[in-house]
Amino acid sequence: MRRAFAVGFALFLCVAAPSFAEWTLTKIGGRDYVPLDNVAVFYGLGGVRREGNSATMEMGPRSLKGSANSVEFYINRLKFNLSYPVAEHEGRLWMSRMDLTKVLEPVLRPSKIKGAERIDTIVLDPGHGGHDKGALSSFGYEKDFSLDVCQRARMLLMQAGYKVVMTRNTDIFVSLSDRVRFANQYSNALFISIHFNSGGTGTGLETYTLAPRGVPSMMADGPRISDLDPCPGHVNDAENIALATATHAAMVMRSRMTDRGIKRARFVVIRDITLPGVLIEGGFLSNNYDARLIATPTYRQQMANSVVQAVQNYRRAVGTQIGEVVARHEGPRVETNTPMLRATPSANDAQPTVITPTAPAN
Ligand SMILES: [Zn+2]
Repeated sequence: MRRAFAVGFALFLCVAAPSFAEWTLTKIGGRDYVPLDNVAVFYGLGGVRREGNSATMEMGPRSLKGSANSVEFYINRLKFNLSYPVAEHEGRLWMSRMDLTKVLEPVLRPSKIKGAERIDTIVLDPGHGGHDKGALSSFGYEKDFSLDVCQRARMLLMQAGYKVVMTRNTDIFVSLSDRVRFANQYSNALFISIHFNSGGTGTGLETYTLAPRGVPSMMADGPRISDLDPCPGHVNDAENIALATATHAAMVMRSRMTDRGIKRARFVVIRDITLPGVLIEGGFLSNNYDARLIATPTYRQQMANSVVQAVQNYRRAVGTQIGEVVARHEGPRVETNTPMLRATPSANDAQPTVITPTAPAN
């Protein structure tokens, strides 16, 4: 049976422009937070519906859902792991300003990411290789599965008219820094790294993208001083999360695996690249169900199809004419141009390309 919903993209025209005077900003645990009711009005989602700990904001196919003290947050029914938990404060639910600007804004209004639509090259990065075998299942090594998925994706991407390059095309060892150096030669390009997971009782799909400056990696036990260091990849914070969203949506739609959500990390390959990038963990080789699926060519072809769909959807989402015009008017990039600074969205703003799950498929 297919998943209960299909994830796709829709272009929403004529969304009523919210009239919005100002944002309420408060400090919670030393961090800036904004109330979800402000968020709901700003993005034209009406109000906040509270049920116990959780809050839902919904208008047509667009929705946001979160819970007090949880980092799990659903945007158009796709699971994200926020950098900081939603907080309950004075009877309202609040989200961190960091998550508002680094997750919600680029995901809900990707057309505002300036210049991101000029993509003609895809850098595919099959994880591991040579003596570095990666994770192991009784059906094979991660290094072989990741290469196979990339070779399948390369074929499809070339058929779709992209220039495709790979950090390795055979079973050889390539260091992480060499992968980064190779990728950074290309402009107007996206970087997609393919891996498979291992460990514990884990199962399902994860998509990683670079943690913004100051945000702890979800792979670490907690905050580190080095979280404050700037990384080359930070110039693409908005593109990174938009690409992660398009990628994860395509992966989740096509597979029967558990959705573990979009996560943040500082893996070398996504940290040091100067092009937008994601790292896909396409299931757990240590889990019997996942491992059996990964061992089938059908599943790996499905992953390759998802990569192509992700690239196409990303380009479409960031590449509307409308987005270009709006971005030019606004000057700064999304990461500095926070909704906080934009008190009253104009009617022209109300035409976002939104990444959204469509109605239940079958
Ligand atoms: Zn790996």
